[in-house]
Amino acid sequence: MLFIVYTTGRCNLKCSYCGGSFDPEIVPWKVKYSLNDLDDLIREEDVVAFYGGEPLLNQDFIRDFMDVFTVDKWVIQTNGLLLHRLDKNILERLDTILVSIDGNELLTDKFRGSGTYRKVLDNVRKIRREGYCGDIVARMTVTEESSIYRDVKHLLSIGLFDHIHWQISFIWSEPWKNLWKWINQDYKPGLLRLFSEWLDELENDVVEGIAPFQGVLKRIIEGGPAPPCGSGSESFTILTDGRVISCPIAVSEKWSHIGSIREISRKDLETMSPPITEPCNKCNYFEVCGARCLYTHIERLWGEEGVKAICECSRYLINLVKDNIERIREAASGRNLTLRDLVYPEYNNTVEIVP
Ligand code: SF4
Ligand code: SF4
Repeated sequence: MLFIVYTTGRCNLKCSYCGGSFDPEIVPWKVKYSLNDLDDLIREEDVVAFYGGEPLLNQDFIRDFMDVFTVDKWVIQTNGLLLHRLDKNILERLDTILVSIDGNELLTDKFRGSGTYRKVLDNVRKIRREGYCGDIVARMTVTEESSIYRDVKHLLSIGLFDHIHWQISFIWSEPWKNLWKWINQDYKPGLLRLFSEWLDELENDVVEGIAPFQGVLKRIIEGGPAPPCGSGSESFTILTDGRVISCPIAVSEKWSHIGSIREISRKDLETMSPPITEPCNKCNYFEVCGARCLYTHIERLWGEEGVKAICECSRYLINLVKDNIERIREAASGRNLTLRDLVYPEYNNTVEIVP
């Protein structure tokens, strides 16, 4: 089980696709429950991911949490601005750090605020210099102004990140102006080029950490939950007021609400399954795609066109990997590896797999 734990509803950025801090009436900025209330929910084999708001605004809570619970893996999703002040004792225990960055300086600063790109990279460099050797993931939000090939290549070229992952900002924002133009003229050709070069590198004994390729490969050979992020079946989020929800983004939506930590049991969570309906339950891609995202599957804020756009992008990516599976297998066997050695993530570290 993955538990995504809000440490605060407050954020120290106001990115244009997100809007910054939550209304404290909806997600309080301070944690309102006692850690003892989680005793029966969290087990040693679980993964805990700290989340917010900006989770590092409440380091004391993170430290207390880590001191009280023993779990299999610790994860954090951060905007990176406070990484330089992260207590060494916390840093050393983190298995995955996901850092938000969208691509080059111009693009990142446009959406996240001036100076963000440099500050984030300085901080990531600092924790590397201090010896942090866990998994650092660049977590991109992809908008109409992104160019998938340019931006992923840029982040790979920096040499600081073990993996690059992206989520396309479909549905959350106002409808894109040139949705299909972007899909057909940027995303699909960019993905194709990125994938061809990923295969070439693989044949040269280099495994580039591109999470959506490795994640889709994982789904093809191992399967996994639907949606792939595990929301509502293998992943649950605990808000600062002790509410448990299925998707960390859906803090007010009724379908996401499960109950309070004081009234639900581990068994309740283990027997849950998210409400996935048409068109996904009748789709040939369902086993791999898994409906992509529970939030967009239920909310459909861009209507039918949005569903079509999501499906087009997901299917294109899945086909790329599926159609080349033999080439991937051969490249791996040349290094005495199997397909399983190439998959990512090893555990649910909040990388949602299908962008
Ligand atoms: S491709 Fe579209 S319809 Fe098929 S499972 Fe994915 S989101 Fe659902
Ligand atoms: S992929 Fe969708 S359902 Fe899963 S955590 Fe993200 S927003 Fe929620």
